[in-house]
Amino acid sequence: MMSGPSAAELARQHAAGTTPATKSVEQAFARAAEVDAGPGGLNAILWDDREAALGAAARVADLARQGHQPGPLAGVPVVVKDNIATLTMPTTCGSRILEGYVSPYEATVVTRLRTAGAIVIGKTNMDEFAMGSSTENSAYGPAKNPLDPTRVPGGSSGGSAACVAAGIVPVALGSETGGSVRQPAAFCGIVGVKPTYGRVSRYGLVAFASSLDQVGVFGRSVEDAAIGLGAIAGRDRYDSTSADAAVDDYAATVSETLKGVVIGRPREYFPDSLDARIRERCDAAFDTFRQLGATVRDVSLPHTDLAIPTYYIIAPAEASSNLARFDGVRYGVRAKAATLREMYADTRSHGFGREVTRRILLGTYVLSAGYYDAYYRKAQEVRALIADDFQKVFDSGVDMLFTPTAPTTAFPIGAKSDPYEMYLSDIFTATANLAGIPALSLPIGRVDGLPVGGQVMARHFAEAALFRAAFALELALGEAAHR
Ligand code: GLN
Repeated sequence: MMSGPSAAELARQHAAGTTPATKSVEQAFARAAEVDAGPGGLNAILWDDREAALGAAARVADLARQGHQPGPLAGVPVVVKDNIATLTMPTTCGSRILEGYVSPYEATVVTRLRTAGAIVIGKTNMDEFAMGSSTENSAYGPAKNPLDPTRVPGGSSGGSAACVAAGIVPVALGSETGGSVRQPAAFCGIVGVKPTYGRVSRYGLVAFASSLDQVGVFGRSVEDAAIGLGAIAGRDRYDSTSADAAVDDYAATVSETLKGVVIGRPREYFPDSLDARIRERCDAAFDTFRQLGATVRDVSLPHTDLAIPTYYIIAPAEASSNLARFDGVRYGVRAKAATLREMYADTRSHGFGREVTRRILLGTYVLSAGYYDAYYRKAQEVRALIADDFQKVFDSGVDMLFTPTAPTTAFPIGAKSDPYEMYLSDIFTATANLAGIPALSLPIGRVDGLPVGGQVMARHFAEAALFRAAFALELALGEAAHR
């Protein structure tokens, strides 16, 4: 795997003027040309804007020359998932229906990245409207895993994960509705964090399931992910669902000790059917936590097995409502037709792919009169039970939970044609979205050369604790995290 300098290191060099930001941005584009573009490439980047990126980098270099502090991500090249609105590049959500669509406004997370000095060099491939776990559902072709291009990078933020793992950029943004940052982070051997629901503004994030969606951050290291989240977190007056809670200085507190910290091992995340080699990697991580002074406690989250059916009712229900806006009138492409009704039907039938169509049908069904109580309302009740499981464990004195991120390593492209089998990829990740708590995945070793992710979860707004545990584990594992 290509490693390259960290975001922290690059920002230091750019601020000190020892390396001009323009050089790092040129290098990011050169690396993308080498590994990403063309028929044999990773297909991780859908759109880019070289001219704007180099212009922004030149401004950072000027600031540094004039002795100004250009920010914690000074001149650091980053990529963002294609469902996050940018001004000079398209925002297509990996869908035909938004082909060529350029947003008239910018997402708050993008504005904040730029304010921190970052240079957004491109938009990344994704499962259409973030529905999927492999990036195979993109209308623009699948993205590939840099560690083995015959395999998926995970999804739905697979393009962003692939860019970080391939050494194009050290930090990237993705989005999470049910694991779409943590699972690709695990598959690509990098760090991915889903913040608490409300921690980060969603202004300019194209809505999938509004009670679950959050922007998340990828980093090649825990520190880089912490710097990235620090740059985008916090209340935004353009998003009334963003929380007012104070933002901790994640990067400054990552190295605090784990002495006295209680880490829970939820038995439902270690079923007998779990791949023994993934279990072994997790057990080694628990041993490391103990050596670092933490206590490991067996706990139970009894409603875990209900997470997938619950998630796959709530997410499609909300999606069927959110995606009603793509009607051929307001955004993107419009089919030619004789009547208005035909225009709507043709635009949507041709514009949406199979999985998105399936979700809209499912979602419309579970919300329809006569079925609402049996499905949607029931799912909301079960969701409350799942959230309560976590609350009880945290209230009993457990600071964090540690689990595998995914039940498998990266699978071959084309291996999962049954949608239900694909949904099971999210078994360990969808729970945190349903409960609204923060969670992070980091590499904890390899199985047959493919990365295994370990997941840390904590109570609402305790992102600093996640970074602290992950940083300590990353440091203690060292090279073993990639072997
Ligand atoms: N794999 C899940 C789905 O297909 C989660 C996607 C996501 O988090 N955006 O819905």
